[in-house]
Amino acid sequence: MKKYKWFFPGLSLFMFATLFLALLIEFVPPNASELFSNMTGMFSYIIMLNLVLIASRPKWIERKIGLTEMYHVHAWMAMVLPFTLFIHVFIRWSGLEQVLSWDLTITSKLGYIGLITLIIVMLTGIFVLSDTFIKKSKKLMELKNKYLKRNTHLWLHRLSIVSVIAILFHVYTVPYAQGNLPYHILVTTYTVISLGWYFIYKIKLGRLPKYEIVRHEQPAPNIHEIEMKTNGFDRLDYQAGQYGFFRFVDSAVTSEAHPFSFSSAPLSNDSTVTIMVQEDGDFTGNLDQIKPGDRVTIEGPYGNFYPETVENSNHPLVLLSGGIGVTPNLSVLREEIAKDSNRRIAFVWGLGSKENLMYHEEFQKLAKQYPNFSYHIIFSEEEVAGFPHGFIDNEFIQNEGLEELYETATWHVCGPPPMLEAAKGLLNENNVKEDQAYIEEFAF
Ligand SMILES: Cc1cc2nc3c(=O)[nH]c(=O)nc-3n(C[C@H](O)[C@H](O)[C@H](O)COP(=O)(O)OP(=O)(O)OC[C@H]3O[C@@H](n4cnc5c(N)ncnc54)[C@H](O)[C@@H]3O)c2cc1C
Repeated sequence: MKKYKWFFPGLSLFMFATLFLALLIEFVPPNASELFSNMTGMFSYIIMLNLVLIASRPKWIERKIGLTEMYHVHAWMAMVLPFTLFIHVFIRWSGLEQVLSWDLTITSKLGYIGLITLIIVMLTGIFVLSDTFIKKSKKLMELKNKYLKRNTHLWLHRLSIVSVIAILFHVYTVPYAQGNLPYHILVTTYTVISLGWYFIYKIKLGRLPKYEIVRHEQPAPNIHEIEMKTNGFDRLDYQAGQYGFFRFVDSAVTSEAHPFSFSSAPLSNDSTVTIMVQEDGDFTGNLDQIKPGDRVTIEGPYGNFYPETVENSNHPLVLLSGGIGVTPNLSVLREEIAKDSNRRIAFVWGLGSKENLMYHEEFQKLAKQYPNFSYHIIFSEEEVAGFPHGFIDNEFIQNEGLEELYETATWHVCGPPPMLEAAKGLLNENNVKEDQAYIEEFAF
């Protein structure tokens, strides 16, 4: 699967090489700086087209690498842009005075419009929409969550389309490519594919069917369990452990899309889906305003937490969760139960305090009913009678008698970032192979 990470960088190189060859049919750059300027300008544009393609969340590649990884690729490719653009603009630079007086050729004017909008797009991407870079700094993350509104920046980020169109016309008007038909055909084809894909994706979003909320409960403080029912149409075909983007379109809360994992099992009900959401910020903090009868669209499904190959095999499963990270694991557990599975399943859950505990009776019942099922809950913030106290670590796994599962089980891990880091360390230390572990991060 790892090789698919290189799909978009590889595609960019292919598109760049073909475009560059088409340019050379009719034009030989007179010197090295001209050559370099052409190459960097063209490469920047091709990267932009690929970033637009990724933004339309193409399913065929998402299934291979997952959306989180796709967004990481998006972030890293976007980081190449400032460098290539800088070289291009630096070589073509016509002086500050000329730029400020807007005394430029039409090609340069279009180039600058593309550049300015692109800078806005890059800043919103790096500082607000993607956690890839700023999650390395706790302070930046705090500032972002406090002051920068995701939805506003999402709109600003869409200026990327304006930028692509401005740069397309910039490319059309450059003097050295005038009359070069193959070059123009190629650049137009690549742009139409990329923008076309994006617009088709947007049209499909607008036509998604609306589910109706039939149940809204709070099984623990700050946790919302929301069940949605189809309105006569086929329920989304999802796999246990996957997630979707939910838009509360007819409701008191805003209709911006947020990703949530399904906590329901696809097999157990063919007309409803259920999610569990923890209040975490502006949007989730307002979920108490939703009510039965409200309408919701679901985009997806996405994710590869519990792939078909694992589902079909008979390996033991360890479903390891921290806090609200339990949602995809609940879905997997409920799916296995719906299948009447006799796999060995260990459900391991780290929680803060007793008030966060949910579904205890469901687990107790399952443990009685299925001899191969066991659950192991640990609390880190308070001592709770009948449960161990601390974090999910090697000692806990050993005390619970689960250490043989390091070798034999597939591990499905989901939780907040510090818990995920600790869990990755635990699996590494105990030689759990990469293809034996499925890790879901609740962040892009
Ligand atoms: C694949 C995936 C699955 C998830 N599953 C669940 C789940 O089952 N249950 C659950 O409680 N939470 C889940 N989350 C997290 C949930 O999406 C965020 O907590 C929620 O969107 C925060 O919104 P907010 O406006 O309340 O918080 P904010 O305070 O605005 O944001 C808190 C954090 O969430 C991120 N975030 C905010 N809005 C979005 C958005 N529209 N898209 C992506 N990230 C966003 C921000 O970058 C920030 O890091 C999941 C996240 C991902 C990526």
